[in-house]
Amino acid sequence: MIVVLKPLCSQTTIERLTRRIEELGMKPHIIIGVERTVIAATGPEREGMQAELEADQEVERVMPILAPYKIASRETRRDPTVITVGSLTIGGGTIGVIAGPCSVEGEESIIEIAKIVKAAGATALRGGAFKPRTSPYAFQGMKEKGLEFLAAAREVTGLAIVTEVMTPHHVELVAKYSDVLQIGARNMQNYHLLQAVGETRKPVLLKRGPSATIEEFLLAAEYILDQGNQQVILCERGIRTFETHTRFTLPLATVPYLREKTHLPIVVDPSHGTGVASLVPSMSAASVACGADGLILEVHQNPAKAVSDGAQTLNPAQFEATIATCRKVAGALGKTM
Ligand code: PEP
Ligand code: MN
Repeated sequence: MIVVLKPLCSQTTIERLTRRIEELGMKPHIIIGVERTVIAATGPEREGMQAELEADQEVERVMPILAPYKIASRETRRDPTVITVGSLTIGGGTIGVIAGPCSVEGEESIIEIAKIVKAAGATALRGGAFKPRTSPYAFQGMKEKGLEFLAAAREVTGLAIVTEVMTPHHVELVAKYSDVLQIGARNMQNYHLLQAVGETRKPVLLKRGPSATIEEFLLAAEYILDQGNQQVILCERGIRTFETHTRFTLPLATVPYLREKTHLPIVVDPSHGTGVASLVPSMSAASVACGADGLILEVHQNPAKAVSDGAQTLNPAQFEATIATCRKVAGALGKTM
């Protein structure tokens, strides 16, 4: 349920109500809004709880949260969540651009591509050091060395680092080097991993599972939020359908639909969503047009030589042109990119 406090209530009141909610067997999540503070209470609800909290002098009203995802729901928070970490801002009218290779391939190459994407308008650098590959025989990533190279690229360019963490055992390690923890599509329902990143206070980029419904996607985000980490970025990256012309099918209606249901920012990954580099520029512009708060794009100096996902990767000139087009679309919508 949502406990809406009266305007300008004191810290002591917030603490007192938080304790009371805990005594009632529920978990309090304090959400400080522009106008007032609300406490989202999650967990099993008993009869009479609502009336008891409503009777409190400092409480304006208590409402049930109807959506199965509670903290992620728009019912809990009207203001959009804006995430800022270093060079990257996502949401609130600012479109974040996360760009870089599928995999980190070496120190020199990641620094070089970081400079290229930054010059073309990227606000964060992506690159996998731990790679979830379909085949166990495919390149699995440079692991900790790759993380060191990403940190070196941040040192040189100032770009925030977005990189994937695949297992709860690596959360501390990946968090040490990166700014945003990426949860890959294959791990969207790895609940222990979601809880582990939820225990950190790093922003998390959560990719939609290729066969997950939007409700399952939002409930996965809820696992992170329920651990007290409020910085979750949702990422539509394409779903599996009967279609085989593209690697996945990129359903852009997800963006305005999620906008209605959640306050969390939404980014789109047209690289994995299509699997075809020639389709990425148009789908990037379309993503901005339908309201995405950010893009995550694979870019490489020489896509033909990329160790993974070369077919869907833009070269520097294509990336630059894509950003130029997207900026015009963003401008038409009154957004900054
Ligand atoms: C990636 O970003 O390189 C990646 C593996 O993405 P996804 O988890 O969406 O397949
Ligand atoms: Mn990839």
